[in-house]
Amino acid sequence: TPELARAESLIRTIPDYPEPGVLFRDITPLLADAEALRATIDAMIEPFAGQFDVVAGIEARGFLLAGAVAMAAGVGLVPIRKAGRLPRPAASVSYALEYGTATIEAHDDIADGTRVLLVDDVLATGGTIQAAHALVPALGGVVVATSVLMELVALGGRAIVPDVHALFAA
Ligand code: 5GP
Repeated sequence: TPELARAESLIRTIPDYPEPGVLFRDITPLLADAEALRATIDAMIEPFAGQFDVVAGIEARGFLLAGAVAMAAGVGLVPIRKAGRLPRPAASVSYALEYGTATIEAHDDIADGTRVLLVDDVLATGGTIQAAHALVPALGGVVVATSVLMELVALGGRAIVPDVHALFAA
């Protein structure tokens, strides 16, 4: 649609951030535009309408999308946070980064069998979403789908997490 094409055009590419050689996709111009934000959130939900009970957003940019998804879809929200930010984490999953490891955690505020839509801004190597796929069952939830704004195809995340719905690709 023209709305989505315009939204995509608002994603800004920043060379050499956060380090030399990296092309960073900056979604803040899209977030700042009411029509682009609305079209984006609707399109991230649309294939999965009625199929999930809660949205889980991954820190930090995933939170920005997940809050809007929750309101638009009429569901609750579970934040998936980086280690050490939650007062009573019920589950935690560590995963490998290019250098070192990272850990994500969540509270168990959902009933067993709750259907979860995972949301993040960008699929890169896939490590973060793969870890979130392991975390949700530890809370008793079931991941029914994963929706991201943008996939960075060259980083190969789709080989690790094949079923991600990506609105845009670069
Ligand atoms: P992955 O684990 O797939 O390698 O990395 C995904 C995570 O890194 C996402 O949570 C995402 O926020 C962040 N990320 C990696 N590259 C980019 C990028 O170019 N732009 C943005 N906005 N986030 C990125």
